[in-house]
Amino acid sequence: MTTHMDRPPETGTTRRDALGIAMALLGGAFSVGMAPSADPRTDDSCLIGYDAEFEDALAEADEQIPPDEGRLGQGGLPGVFALPLRRGYRVTARYGVRGNWQAGHHTGIDLAVPRGTPVYAVSAGTVVLAQWSGDYGNAVTVRMPDGHYAVYGHLNRIRTRNGARISAGARIADSGSTGRATGPHLHLEIRARRPYGTDVNPVSYLARRGVRLL
Ligand SMILES: [Zn+2]
Repeated sequence: MTTHMDRPPETGTTRRDALGIAMALLGGAFSVGMAPSADPRTDDSCLIGYDAEFEDALAEADEQIPPDEGRLGQGGLPGVFALPLRRGYRVTARYGVRGNWQAGHHTGIDLAVPRGTPVYAVSAGTVVLAQWSGDYGNAVTVRMPDGHYAVYGHLNRIRTRNGARISAGARIADSGSTGRATGPHLHLEIRARRPYGTDVNPVSYLARRGVRLL
C-alpha cells in the first residue's frame, strides 16, 4: 500500500482523484467494491472509461494538426520504438481483461511503478494533447508516424506540451495515480485510430516493433 504524504499539491486534483486516494488509503476491501466486477485486482485499480470531455478535447486538438505533421515529425524515425519505463514494473491489469469498462474490456495495460517514475515515449510522434484528461487523469496522447495513437494515463506530472514533436524514448512525464486510478501506475493505451474503442493490444503492437513489455 502506498502512502500519499508525498503527493504534490499541483496538477488537476479532482474529487474523483481524491476518491481514488481515499480508496487507496482504505485499502483493498473497499476498492474491490468500486472496481470493475470481473476485475480480480485489489489495491490498484484502473477505472478508465469513455470520457466525453477527453475524447472531444482530443478530437478538437487532433484536427488542428495537419495529418502529415504527425507522420513526418522530426526525430520521426519510423521503426524506432522504446520501452515506456526504464525501471522494473509490475503488470496490475493486462490489456483486454473483461470487466465493467465501457469498452467491455481494459483498453490499455497497467504498469505499476512508484509515483514520479520517468515515463518515455514508445514512439516518435506529435503530442496531440498533454493535459488533464478526465478518467485518464493527467495524460499525454501522441499521434505516431503510423497513424496510431498512444495514450499515457494517470501521470503525476506532464513534461511535454501540446503540439510538441517527440522522438522515441523522449521523457514525456512522471507517472502517478491521477484520474480514475486507486494506485500509482502507468496506463498505456494504443489506439489504431483516434476514437475510444479502437484500442489494440499494446504488448503485441510493441512486440511486432521489437519492444517487449512482458
Ligand atoms: Zn488501465
